Amino acid sequence: MKLSYPCLSEANHNDLALALRIARHSSCASCDYCPGLRPPASVEVVLDDDVHQKSLLGDLTQYGSDEEDGPAYLETCICGHDVADHGSRLAALGREEFSRRARLATRLDELLQEADRQLDFNYADEDIDSLRQQMKMPVSMVSIASPSIRTSFISVLPATSLSCFRTIFSG
Ligand SMILES: [Zn+2]
Ligand SMILES: [Zn+2]
Repeated sequence: MKLSYPCLSEANHNDLALALRIARHSSCASCDYCPGLRPPASVEVVLDDDVHQKSLLGDLTQYGSDEEDGPAYLETCICGHDVADHGSRLAALGREEFSRRARLATRLDELLQEADRQLDFNYADEDIDSLRQQMKMPVSMVSIASPSIRTSFISVLPATSLSCFRTIFSG
């Protein structure tokens, strides 16, 4: 199966393309091990620049005929979850946070382009790693957004408060 990934052109500044960019650089919210969206082994990913050149020349009849419009965007990750699960759900993030992440993701894709690695989903270097750190929720949103972070917060409580609990329970 052939699916596409949005190349870095102005034509690709729509929410669908941006969400896919964000997902590529964001860890999965539905499983613990996936560091970012990447294609399943059965999928061949191509850059969609040709597709968009074609649609710019085409007319409005292209609407509703996506099969002839070249391969659709990559939607499902190798981990089994989709683009929205990988930190790009507009409704959950709000427009401002979505745009912030989209800018970061676009910058990350520029770095990949410079390294000629746009379709290498396992590629990372120092700059990419440090930018990806900023893909996470801003601190103010963490407490309401992620139950898993709340759980891990308990484990960093000082040992004294834990022994306090133990005293209570052992009577
Ligand atoms: Zn996942
Ligand atoms: Zn994933």
